Parts: sequence; structure tokens; C-alpha cells
Amino acid sequence: AQQHNYAEVLQKSMFFYEAQRSGTLPADNRVTWRGNSALSDGSDAGLNLTGGWYDAGDHVKFNFPMAFSATMLAWGAVDFADGYNNSGQMKYLKSNLRFVNDYFIRCHTAPNELYGQVGNGGTDHAWWGSSEVMAMTRPAYKIDATHPGSDLAAETAAAMAAASMVFKTDDPTYSATLLTHAVQLYNFADTYRGVYSASITDAAGYYNSYSGYNDELVWGAIWLYRATGDAAWLTKAETYYANLSTESQTAIKSYKWGLAWDDKSTGCYALLAKLTGKAQYKEDIERHLDYWTDGYNGSRITYTAGGLAFLDVWGALRYAINTGFLAAYYKDAATTTAKGSKYYSFAQSQMNYALGSNPNNRSYVCGFGNNPPVKPHHRTAHGCWTNNLTGPPAESRHTLYGALVGGPNNDDSYTDDRGNYVNNEVATDYNAAFSGLAAKLVQEYGGTPLANFPVAETPTGEFTIEAKINGSGTTYTEWSVWVNNHTAWPARIASKHVFRLFINISEGLSAGYKPTDYVVSSNNADVTFTQLQAWDTAQHLYYTEVTYNPALKIWPGGQGESKKESQIRIRLPYEAPASAWSAANDWSSQGVDATLKEVSNIPLYVDDKLVYGSTP
Ligand code: BGC
Ligand code: CA
Repeated sequence: AQQHNYAEVLQKSMFFYEAQRSGTLPADNRVTWRGNSALSDGSDAGLNLTGGWYDAGDHVKFNFPMAFSATMLAWGAVDFADGYNNSGQMKYLKSNLRFVNDYFIRCHTAPNELYGQVGNGGTDHAWWGSSEVMAMTRPAYKIDATHPGSDLAAETAAAMAAASMVFKTDDPTYSATLLTHAVQLYNFADTYRGVYSASITDAAGYYNSYSGYNDELVWGAIWLYRATGDAAWLTKAETYYANLSTESQTAIKSYKWGLAWDDKSTGCYALLAKLTGKAQYKEDIERHLDYWTDGYNGSRITYTAGGLAFLDVWGALRYAINTGFLAAYYKDAATTTAKGSKYYSFAQSQMNYALGSNPNNRSYVCGFGNNPPVKPHHRTAHGCWTNNLTGPPAESRHTLYGALVGGPNNDDSYTDDRGNYVNNEVATDYNAAFSGLAAKLVQEYGGTPLANFPVAETPTGEFTIEAKINGSGTTYTEWSVWVNNHTAWPARIASKHVFRLFINISEGLSAGYKPTDYVVSSNNADVTFTQLQAWDTAQHLYYTEVTYNPALKIWPGGQGESKKESQIRIRLPYEAPASAWSAANDWSSQGVDATLKEVSNIPLYVDDKLVYGSTP
């Protein structure tokens, strides 16, 4: 029976892919806290490699898991299309698939040349902030005939072939373009053999090709067969199937791991079993699914007490859900109905565990269900300006709807800790089969997407002024004023920052001084300022306008980077009597004392708009 609103899950999962978009955001962007980013990607190679998805909680574009995610999303659309259609999510899925495939097209710069990563793992991971303002260089890395990557090229071929099926009726031209790239990429993969992480060595520390490329060569050929119907591709897939790994010292195909970004063998078992009906493939997938359910030959995957099939602590939920997706896809072709229903209830139990049916009674999907994670390991969702994942700010500023986190440990324990990327990171590959399985469950049980989704977030605390009285005397006040840029809706860098300090000069006028007798000064080279200007002469209100040097970057990229100080003094001639000067009636001295804090009577104008504080 239905235990959760799977349509809402699917809806939110589609949102998560929008939140991961890099480059120029299309007009259909629903994520109010995201803006354009990484617009120079590819420039080091003289190319436009903008677009695609940020991998996870970081901002590297790792094409190997990205392509796997795209393949899995398209697979869900091909086999569980009704789930997407019934819940109104097909258009969002197509938008996401088009976005990522447009990027793959840009990356495929020649028949035997494919860019496979933009951004350096080390420098990207070393900085904690929003993608819109990141400042590190983002090198582009490629594979070609002399530096091959059969796994990467064949996975990208699989992704494009699978997507060509999704676009076949609505946009045959795009579909054909994708297929052309897919065929070229597959031939590149097949002709020039090698693991991509030996060519793009920076990827080896993050997404090393542990399982090699034989699985992707089978997988890519299967997807080309499905996209074209050409039996030659099926023959290729079945021929290369012999190269898939086996359990050590046996001829039995490996069955103890799980489908994920590195190893697609089990996906190949399931697909070939269904596409051909042949006994060998059925045996191979059933051995695997038996191992994951009630055991094969007396051995079974570890289960947590709460019912999660537990392959590995890093992203445990993703492996369980990926295998659940395979089980749900394959179940109708199982050799017995008992097996089919065992597989299907396994799939549902793993999904339900992730959605809240677990010993902690909590959802592992951000912005969904009961007590979901609110501190996922995700830079842009944190909206941090201090380059520090613990903050400030302590709380994440955005809701990363739909993102599945890594999940619990093998004792079902879990802490919602932003610093823990093993249990609490999110990733484009985690959500891919997850979306497909959610679509299958929508097909089965229905469900209703939320009507008002997403509700736009209300920006808070983006630009602020903090101030204190730096010094005062009988004839002057000196303010220390800090402009803060904590923007996150989206994070952005302005070109002009101006604030105004207002004083009331009635007592000076009474003592015989004129507005032009007042002197404004500053010790800071980074600002320019006006002498006193009239604001409201009837009320004796005057002000100075202080402008930061436009070259000074005030940006949410670190504690010091996000705030800039200026010290401004307004005074009368030194010989003026104490009676000629009083701060008590000065607008911009109200609420300002010797302690630096946010104050409201020093208005801030950013790019000529009043964004903070108020005028008299
Ligand atoms: C990054 C994560 C990444 C982890 C391991 C962290 O610094 O923020 O995105 O998964 O390193 O590479
Ligand atoms: Ca592989």
C-alpha cells in the first residue's frame, strides 16, 4: 500500500535537478535562490563548456556521474513514463534532460574528443560558498584518442541514446542529434580503450573508474539498441557481456555490489533479461536481487535493524534505492511470481525507508516529509558568506527540496550534520534512480504533487550595515560603518555601494554656523564622500553620501571578503563651542553606540537602489 505521497517526492526530485544547474539558467528556472554561474567554463580551452549540473554539494562538473545520472533519469522516463505524466512531472524531467544533454553536446567537441570534467576537485572543495560567486579557476579536462576514456564516452553515449528516446516524438530533430552524438561517442569508446580516470587524473580522487569500462561498453550498446532498434547493437551488447566481471575464482557474474555511477553491470543484467528473455541474464539479475532480498546461496547483504539494505556507508540510501529501481523494473519478468513480488516489495520498502518509514521516523529527503534534513552538505543551499561550513550562518538559508542525502549508518543512526559528506551530502547520482522509482510508485499508487510549489523564499539579511561610534567629541562624531554582502537569493556581487549619514544641524545654525562650515573626512582610501548636502532644510537635516571604490569587491566569499569598513567623521571647526554640536538629534547616531552591530538609520544603496535602513 502507499505510504507516502510519491507524486510530491517526484515533483521535489525534479526541483533538485534545477537547483544543480550550472551556467545560464533557462527561463523556466524555479529555484528563486539560484542565478547564473560558472559562465567562463571552457574558456581555458577556448570553448563554451557552460551548463550541466554541479555534481553534489560541491561545484565540480564531473561528467562521469553526471552522465550516469542522466541515463538513469531517462531510463525512468522510458519505462515509467506514466508516473511522470500522471503527476505532471514529465515537462520538468524533459527540461532537466535537455539541460544536461545540451551540455554533453558542448562537451563533445570532435568525434574522438570529449570534455569530461570542469573544475578542479581540490580547489573547488577548498572553498565553501555559493556557486554564483565562486572565484577559483575552473580548468576543463578531456579525453581523446591518445588519452582515452571508454567508460566516460560509453556512459555519455548511453545518456544521449536514452534521452533520444525521451525526445523522439516531441522533438525528432533534437532526438536525432542526440543519437548521432551517441553513436560517435560509443565508437570512440569502443575503438580507443582505456579508463577515463587514467586520462583525467584529477577525477581519480573523486570518481575513479574502479570497475573499468566493460560494463559501460555493454550498457552503452544496450541503450543504443533500445534507441535505434538495430539488432547489431544488441549483438554487440551480448558479445561484450562475456567481459563483465565475475565473483572471484568462479564463472558467476558479480552479484554482491550494486548499480551506481561506477558499475552498471547489474543494470545490464536487468535490461538484457527483459529485452531478450534469455535464461542467463535472468539468472544473473535474480542472483543479484536475491542476494539483496532474502539471500543467495546462504549469503545476504547486510540489513540494518530498521530494514535498510546496507551496501556501504557512503551514500547507503542511494545503493538501496538504485537496486530497488532495478527490482521494480525487472519484477514482471521474474521467473516466478513469488520472486517478482519479493523484488517489488523490496523496492517499496527501501523507498519508504528513505521517505520516513524507519526507526528514526524521519525523512532523508530535504524539504519532504517528517523531520527532513535541514543541513545537507551543500554549498549553495547553505548560502554561506564566511567560507566555513559550520557558519555563520549556522542554519542553511535555502530548502533544497527533493535532495536525497547519503543516509544512515548500519545501525540506522544518523545526524543532520553539514560537515558530514559521507552521510549527509546530496548528489545528482543519488536522485536519479530515486526519481525513476518514485515514478513507478506514482504509476502504482497515484499521489498528488503540491499545488503551490515551490513557494518562493523570502530573502533575508542580504545587504546590511553595521556601525558603531568610533569616537566623538564636543564638535564631532566619527562613525565606523561596515557594508556587508551576505546575498544568497542568489549570491551576487554588486558594482556600487553607497550609504548616507544624516545629522541635524539645528544647534549649529543657532550658534551661527552655516552648512558649509561642517567638514566631512575619512581615513579610508577606498571611499569617496560628499561634503554636507541638504536633505530637508526646514527640519535642518543634512547628510553626507559615502561611495565605495567600484573596484573594491564586497562579496559573500569569506569573513573579510563579505564586509568592508569605512570611518567617516563629521565635524565643526575645532574651536566651535560644545553648544554648537549635539549627536542627540542626529538621525544616524540613533541606536549607534560603541559596539558594532546592525543599525537601521544608515541607509545603504546598492546599485542605486535602497536595500537597507531608512532615511529620516
Ligand atoms: C566536498 C564534498 C566531497 C568530499 C569528498 C568535500 O570537501 O565538499 O563534495 O564529496 O569533499 O571528496
Ligand atoms: Ca564501469
